[in-house]
Amino acid sequence: MKIVDNIKDLRLELELLETSKRSLGFVPTMGAFHEGHISLFKNSIKENKHTAVSIFVNPTQFNEQSDFENYPKNNARDLEILEDLQHIDLVFLPKPEDLYLKSSSSISVNPGQKSELLCGMSRPGHFRGVLTIVLKLFNLFQADRAYFGTKDYQQFLLISEMVESFNLPIELRLVPTYRESDGLAMSSRNQHLNATDREEAPILFQSLEMGSLQIKKGENDTMKLIEMMMTNIIENSHFDIDYLSIVDPVSLEDLIEVHSKRPYLIAIAAYISGTRLIDNLLHLPQA
Ligand code: AMP
Repeated sequence: MKIVDNIKDLRLELELLETSKRSLGFVPTMGAFHEGHISLFKNSIKENKHTAVSIFVNPTQFNEQSDFENYPKNNARDLEILEDLQHIDLVFLPKPEDLYLKSSSSISVNPGQKSELLCGMSRPGHFRGVLTIVLKLFNLFQADRAYFGTKDYQQFLLISEMVESFNLPIELRLVPTYRESDGLAMSSRNQHLNATDREEAPILFQSLEMGSLQIKKGENDTMKLIEMMMTNIIENSHFDIDYLSIVDPVSLEDLIEVHSKRPYLIAIAAYISGTRLIDNLLHLPQA
């Protein structure tokens, strides 16, 4: 496993990989690995001759400096995890000044209107930051496939649209959300939860599942469903809900009516003791 911390060395190492008739899988991350990240790495290892990983806490996608500064970091442990997987060829650990040159700081990707919905409502500029760094990394790595988690579904959707809009020669893969045994979606931010928060946190996914069950049973009214899920969360935890929406998974527009035979996404973001958690339930019935 080669570890590089600058663009020049990254290009050199990628050239070496290219000599061996490669297929390259790429997993962009912000580090502080958990099983969710590991499932992305394993998917890439399965489908590609080589796998490359980037670890970069991207400053431009954070709305608050304190959130950026408090984001969990553990490079030493992350590198051990990657080494233990035995099939990671290349790890890129750049410094912000390496990726963001002052001269180009005003040029960025316009993430379009869907970036203003769901997480975009309370995190203005977040997806502009995400798409810009992902485009830069795609350009640097020139990978054949890139792997993303369903937990950040809106991010995946916007990256897919960027790939389509700019004709980027890369295939995207969406990997299911990896969960703790009680249903809590794994997240680097879970490290910030205290014992009470952690006990209450599974209520998010439990409520999404409760909503989905009611849809299966024939409840079509999204307002009723949202109210039911919100009540369940508010009555059983001290979560402060940012949004809870039932939307079309392509347009991200709110659905007025929902049906189990049609696609829908139930998405939530909520704060607990200042930590923002997100989760979703993506329903894509076979045609
Ligand atoms: P992050 O390091 O949080 O930026 O995440 C890097 C990648 O891992 C993103 O594509 C996330 O969607 C994905 N990811 C995060 N949490 C999970 C999870 N619990 N299960 C699967 N993938 C995840």
